Amino acid sequence: MSFSQIAREIAESPTLMLNEQARLLRVKGEPVIHLGAGEPKNRAPIAAILSAAAKLREGDIKYTPTEGIPSLRKSIIRYTEESYNKLVSPENIIVSNGAKQALWNLLYSIVNPQDEVVILAPYWVSYPEMIKMMYGVPVVVTPEDGTFHPRMEDVEQVVGSYTRAIIVNSPNNPSGVMYSPEFVAELVEFCEKKGIWYISDDIYHKLVFDGRSWPSPYEYTGKDLEDSRVVTVNGVSKLYGMTGFRVGWTIAPRKLVEIMINVQAQTTSTASLVLQAAADGALTGVQSVIEALRQMLQNNRDIMMQELKSFNGITCTLPEGTFYCLPDFRAYSNDSIELSRQLLEKAMVVTVPGKEFGMEGHLRLSICGSIKDIKQGIERIKWVIDPQSPNELFIGEKKLVRDWL
Ligand code: PMP
Repeated sequence: MSFSQIAREIAESPTLMLNEQARLLRVKGEPVIHLGAGEPKNRAPIAAILSAAAKLREGDIKYTPTEGIPSLRKSIIRYTEESYNKLVSPENIIVSNGAKQALWNLLYSIVNPQDEVVILAPYWVSYPEMIKMMYGVPVVVTPEDGTFHPRMEDVEQVVGSYTRAIIVNSPNNPSGVMYSPEFVAELVEFCEKKGIWYISDDIYHKLVFDGRSWPSPYEYTGKDLEDSRVVTVNGVSKLYGMTGFRVGWTIAPRKLVEIMINVQAQTTSTASLVLQAAADGALTGVQSVIEALRQMLQNNRDIMMQELKSFNGITCTLPEGTFYCLPDFRAYSNDSIELSRQLLEKAMVVTVPGKEFGMEGHLRLSICGSIKDIKQGIERIKWVIDPQSPNELFIGEKKLVRDWL
């Protein structure tokens, strides 16, 4: 059988693969703890459900305008004004099937073969693969100092005539780190000056801890949106814990949105009307759901940090937002894929290898689950790798005895 070379080279999504592995183990009745998940366990906001249900009741469910239904785009305008202090027009917005498709459409619309796109390690797993799908070249900038915060001088060093865009995801999946206002300001200014697209993946921008304020890239550009290189991507997946609804959007100069509309029109057409209505409901409904989610995450973050502190040799940069932390396991293993495999096999704990995010020797642990998941998950990880932890572990009634350390 023959397949396209580019498709064959695209790596499997490790996070979706782990979700599936965990699901299959759970179906078999295995006591899996999922510290790999990028989704909280909340129910969708009632306003989202009612709005989608109203559409279903009407039964008049057809294609929508490619760029999204007017009422949702109106809600996105209001959201952008309230959350970013930025006034945008309907023509600056395109709604897609999740932020993932928004990013794909965006990259397809700006990247020529051989163009370079800078990504900042640790980075979200899909960025390099998407760039490769455009026949572009991902250029990774890794902080030399072992922190998860990029340095402007490192970015400047890799930028050249082929650089088309820089993707910024802050607060960051997988580290939870939020980039400083100084860095965002400098990078926006740099991109505007050089004519490089500044892609701000803002999917976690409201899930920020400890009363910190999130630096919006719009604050640092003097340019009008139509002349600016700043593009923002957002969606309802993380904000409202509505991952399965698959609604995200891009805000960009209208010329770019026009191109993205053509790309989307020739591929998936539109996001589903029912799900767009749900997203509209979430955006116009009671917003306290976001604060409840944020508080839950911050509380879980504190518990996770406490649990990790009691772990010999593990260090972890404090997450300032998101669903994740990225502890350094190099005291135990330099091979995160093998470590992650062992943890699943021996103790039924799902983690995501740091290698997938450009940070070998680390594991991404999710703080989206329950406090019990976090405590028991860390206890199990300790049991697998830390010789100073008790030799026996109880999973339910079952007693496991460690015989490999
Ligand atoms: N960007 C980042 C950084 C993410 O973590 C995710 C989801 N894991 C996405 C984009 C995609 O979000 P969506 O569910 O809206 O496609």
